Formats: sequence, C-alpha cells, structure tokens
Amino acid sequence: MPLPIKKNVILAPYTTFKIGGPAKYFFVLKNVNDLPLVLNWAKKKKLPVFIMAGGSNLLISDKGYSGLVILMKLNQIKMEKNRLLVSPGLPLANVLNFCLKNKLSGLEWAAGIPGTIGGAVVDNAGAFGQSIGDLVEKVRVFNLNGFKIIRKKDLKFSYRQSRFKKPNNKYIITQIWLKGFGKLTPEDKKLIITRLQKRKDNQPQLPSAGCVFKNFIPHRSANQRSGVGLMSQTALNSCENSQSKIKVAKHGFDARFTPIPAGKLIQECGLKGKRINDAEISEKHANFIVNRGQARAQDVLSLITLIKREVKKKFKINLQEEVLCVGFDKENRKG
Ligand SMILES: Cc1cc2nc3c(=O)[nH]c(=O)nc-3n(C[C@H](O)[C@H](O)[C@H](O)COP(=O)(O)OP(=O)(O)OC[C@H]3O[C@@H](n4cnc5c(N)ncnc54)[C@H](O)[C@@H]3O)c2cc1C
Repeated sequence: MPLPIKKNVILAPYTTFKIGGPAKYFFVLKNVNDLPLVLNWAKKKKLPVFIMAGGSNLLISDKGYSGLVILMKLNQIKMEKNRLLVSPGLPLANVLNFCLKNKLSGLEWAAGIPGTIGGAVVDNAGAFGQSIGDLVEKVRVFNLNGFKIIRKKDLKFSYRQSRFKKPNNKYIITQIWLKGFGKLTPEDKKLIITRLQKRKDNQPQLPSAGCVFKNFIPHRSANQRSGVGLMSQTALNSCENSQSKIKVAKHGFDARFTPIPAGKLIQECGLKGKRINDAEISEKHANFIVNRGQARAQDVLSLITLIKREVKKKFKINLQEEVLCVGFDKENRKG
C-alpha cells in the first residue's frame, strides 16, 4: 500500500496561531512503523523534513514549507512499574488527565499548556518553576540509522531547550519515559484549578503561540550566552521594583539569577496593543502576539523585529525567541 502522503496542505489549521502556508508534502504519522518508510521516501526525493506536533510553539511562513511535514499523531499511554510510557503525539492535557486518574502528582504545572508531550520535551516546556525535563527518564528516537534510546543526561535540558531544539537535530522522538511522580493530594488538584484561572486572567484567548520570547536571565558577569546577558542599570531599575519576578526554574539556571519576564520589558517599551494588520502585541500580556483574524506570518515577524529593536534600544538586551520560525528565508526571514 502506498503511503497516504498529501500534497499542498495548508498548515494554518494545524497551528495555534492559525497562520502558515502550505506544506509541499504532508503525512500524518499514526503508526511508528511508517516512520522509516516515509523518511526514506523523503530522502529519495531529497526533501527536507519537519516534524510538527501540536503546532503551539510555531510561526510558519506564509509561503509554507517546501519539503515534507510529518504530523505526529502517535498517542499511546500506559504505566510500566512506576513509570509512564508515553507516545510523543499525545496532548499534554491527556497526559495530565491520565496522571489525575492514576493519582500521580508532578505534572500539575502543565495544566493549560497546549501541545503534545513530544513538543514539550523538545522545548523543555515548563511553568511555575518546573519543566518537563524534571520528569523525563529517557526517550526513544529514530533517524535514518535506526532507533535508539537517549537517557536524560544526554538530552541537554536547559531553559526552554533540549538537544532536539538545535537546528541540525535529525532525531525524531518516538517514545518517552517519565518518572519521579508523587502521590496526588487534594491540594495538588486545587493548585491546578488556581493555575488554570491564573492563565485565563493573565493570557489572551485569541490565537497565538504563547510567549514569543524567552524571559531574560541577568548575569552580573559579562557572559553573553543565549538568553543570558549583562543587565543594564536601566533594566535593573525598571525590573527590581516589579512584582512580576518569576520563580527561578530548576533546569539550566544558577540560583543566583532571577529571570526578568520578557513581557515586562516589552510593556516598559510601551508596545502593548501595537498592531500590524491583524497581528497585535496583546494588551493583556505583552509577550504574546495575537492573531486578530487574518494575520500573516510576515505581520507577526514585523512585530517581533520591532520588539527586539525597541527592547535593545531601551534596555541593551537582546531578546531570544521562544517561538520557532519555520519555512522562512534565512537571510532576511521573508516568507
Ligand atoms: C496559549 C499558549 C500558552 C503556552 N504556555 C506555555 C507555557 O506555560 N510554558 C511553555 O513552556 N510553553 C507554553 N506554550 C508553548 C507550547 O505550548 C509549548 O512549547 C509546547 O510544548 C509545544 O508543543 P507542540 O506539540 O505544540 O510542539 P510544536 O509546536 O508542534 O513543535 C515544537 C518543536 O518540537 C518539535 N517536535 C515536536 N514533536 C517532535 C517529535 N516527536 N520529535 C522531534 N521533534 C518534535 C518540532 O519540530 C518543533 O521544533 C504555550 C503556547 C500557547 C499557544
């Protein structure tokens, strides 16, 4: 039976931004045994491959993607001794529900984060000072050399980063082992409700890809790593009075650093509500760009460029994008 690979499929409906042009080729992966077949098919045609899951951390170009997009729909879950064995296409919300049914605590922070468990591992998604890397024991991956297991120590989790987020990554996650759960208490359940309400109160409900930029990690030595930099006095003054400092995340941060919310920096630049066509910097949360209806990727990108320029000018800080831009021209990111 030939693989059901479709042509010219518009990607916008598969993203939470509701933005993005067509994939030249599009394949929905429901059976892991199809993965070698479809990757070999793409190799023969010399096509680049992009793995898409919940589409909640992506800005896809208006031109789309001129290769093969594989939509991850592997969605099994089971308990194995004291571990959870999960397929990467399962929505994070379903994993949390499974934990609740089985009275496991540890994933409460994930309530309200869209997307899949696989996407969460790639992005080391997190909230309220915790992230998925805390729970990952190992993952099974596939590339054209076959399947293999990668253990946590080699997954290189840090703030919204893992080894899979590097541009040259060729591994596709096909299985995830989670461990380290506690026993669910009534307080844990209450926490979920409080946090869901907090999201509702603080985040816009219009289509978006969540926070566009990573929070800024000040470092008082002259170290300029990704998302980590020397903070200017202006930024210090502006942010040290702020009530909005967030808890230091467990992964990748030295406890001496307190992240400054990117939204706070954007707000201080007076950019809330700034609009280009139907793309708008949210009035509710300045680190969200929302799609008011017919926004194009180019409109969002223009806002991203504007934010980076203004924050750099006012605070001498280079904001790093959290959202992944896909299908754009590398030099000028036109798409
Ligand atoms: C309203 C809103 C709120 C959000 N809140 C948060 C938050 O609180 N914290 C947070 O961390 N994030 C948040 N996000 C961002 C997003 O939900 C997370 O980053 C999520 O984990 C992305 O998962 P996804 O399945 O949507 O991945 P996608 O966006 O589809 O893909 C993300 C990356 O993962 C790769 N990928 C996906 N699956 C695989 C696989 N099986 N193998 C290899 N690569 C793969 C893709 O190629 C891509 O590079 C929010 C987003 C929205 C829209």
